[in-house]
Amino acid sequence: MKQITIIGAGLGGLTAGALLAKDGYNVTILEQHNIVGGCATTFKRKGGFSCEVGLHKMDGVYNNPTIIDIFRVLEVYNNIDFIKPNEFFRVKTETIDFIMPNGIKNAKNKLKNRFPKEKKGIDRYFKIIKGISKSLERLQNPSWYYYALFPFMFWNILYYKSKSVTDVLDNIIENDELNTILNTNVWYYNDTPKTLSFLLHAVAQYSYYKGGGYFIKGGSGKLSSYLAKVIRDNGGEVITKASVISCAKDSVSYIYKDKTKVIKSDIIISNISPQQTYKLYNIPYKESKKLGDALLTIYFGFSKNIKEVYGDKAYSTFIFDNLSSMSSFSKIVKDDITKRGFAFVDYSQIESGLTKDSSKSFGVVCIMDNIEDWEKLDKKEYKKKKDNLIETTLKKLEKEYPNISSLVEYVEVGTAKTVKRYIKTPNGTAYGFKPTPKEFFRVPKIKSNRVKNLYFTGQWVIAGGFSPAIMSGGLCAIKIKRAR
Ligand SMILES: Cc1cc2nc3c(=O)[nH]c(=O)nc-3n(C[C@H](O)[C@H](O)[C@H](O)COP(=O)(O)OP(=O)(O)OC[C@H]3O[C@@H](n4cnc5c(N)ncnc54)[C@H](O)[C@@H]3O)c2cc1C
Repeated sequence: MKQITIIGAGLGGLTAGALLAKDGYNVTILEQHNIVGGCATTFKRKGGFSCEVGLHKMDGVYNNPTIIDIFRVLEVYNNIDFIKPNEFFRVKTETIDFIMPNGIKNAKNKLKNRFPKEKKGIDRYFKIIKGISKSLERLQNPSWYYYALFPFMFWNILYYKSKSVTDVLDNIIENDELNTILNTNVWYYNDTPKTLSFLLHAVAQYSYYKGGGYFIKGGSGKLSSYLAKVIRDNGGEVITKASVISCAKDSVSYIYKDKTKVIKSDIIISNISPQQTYKLYNIPYKESKKLGDALLTIYFGFSKNIKEVYGDKAYSTFIFDNLSSMSSFSKIVKDDITKRGFAFVDYSQIESGLTKDSSKSFGVVCIMDNIEDWEKLDKKEYKKKKDNLIETTLKKLEKEYPNISSLVEYVEVGTAKTVKRYIKTPNGTAYGFKPTPKEFFRVPKIKSNRVKNLYFTGQWVIAGGFSPAIMSGGLCAIKIKRAR
């Protein structure tokens, strides 16, 4: 059977590797970090805290046909516990305090009660995002006649592909508060709704409303470790602390325990960005697409289970205290980092399995980040800026969770620079290319057109996020099997 070497053990690489190993290929996955998973990892800290790096919620677990197929084949459902929080999200701004329920019907009813004049717009919004999601779902398994009938069958994709969230919402919804609420949860993806692809907004939001968002019990590292186990159980190898330093047509060189090693490879899969990949081949490559934004995380270990202290609260709360309207979204993310809005994920609201001792709990604050803001600082300034951010963030959290500062047993900040340091993604981005209308809708580039046996997977293929990265791994495995 052919030798497949995978560069990077992020979700895309692990998924492709597990599927191909199960199919009988000889798979070797090389990961430069000392743990697998990339952004999908969990690290331990004193006090019994397992700190979640990159999962607040994952969509598509039980409603995306591609994810379902992958998870069934890999027996993920039998080995990983997915937990669904009680609500979609809560958003708190200067003027809004709204909890979005799970489920389309519930969401529509609640929105219509709150904004009765917008009933028509709300129905239209949900109809549009449903239509787009269905079309994009059909495109996951294209038939030959789709190409001939594309303009008729997929008119909505063609119509919305160059539109931003603002372009669409401004035309169907009048109330600015409602616009803000509908956009809250996808704030992660891009710094402003003015340049966020409406197709991405539609497909992500519809999936979250319809199927819900899930956390992985024990942290996302459980899923990554499980996928690595599938590779090993099927005869493959997962080598950590193995940094790929160069690639040739039929081999991959890497450094392991200070020695350079070479693996002869029939097929190479890259789970890193195209620009980093072609650099390994020494092929000149200039990336024309812009990079997505990065996220900063403040990890909190609490000495008490904060659900027991504050009662039932939302799992995921977006606190934008200086957001007065949808149009100020871009302003709040470009502002000084201490003034930007953030998401607080309170893992005590579910049985997260992130603390050894159930009388303690874990939470994160997540803020949009720019690596330049950190790279220009010296060590002392870097630390000072992080400490200041912890202090100002806790002050804001205190308004919702009085005296929460006194419960902080452990706190640490991971900036865009930290993400880049640990997993090497350019600019520390968490979401691949910037999901603007121009960048988002494109045929996923799974097979390289420059190197014959080179394939891609991960956040750079469809989009960033757990489900797109996993789907890209599935698509990559299918493409390789079909070429057999
Ligand atoms: C703070 C944060 C919060 C997030 N929250 C969510 C969320 O709630 N929901 C959601 O769906 N998504 C979320 N994401 C995004 C999601 O985690 C990522 O988009 C996704 O996990 C990326 O997967 P990937 O397959 O592209 O691999 P990556 O995570 O990019 O991993 C690539 C791997 O390649 C390795 N590597 C790099 N260079 C080399 C080399 N030369 N040799 C060997 N190995 C190498 C790296 O070490 C890494 O392990 C979040 C991300 C972050 C950072």
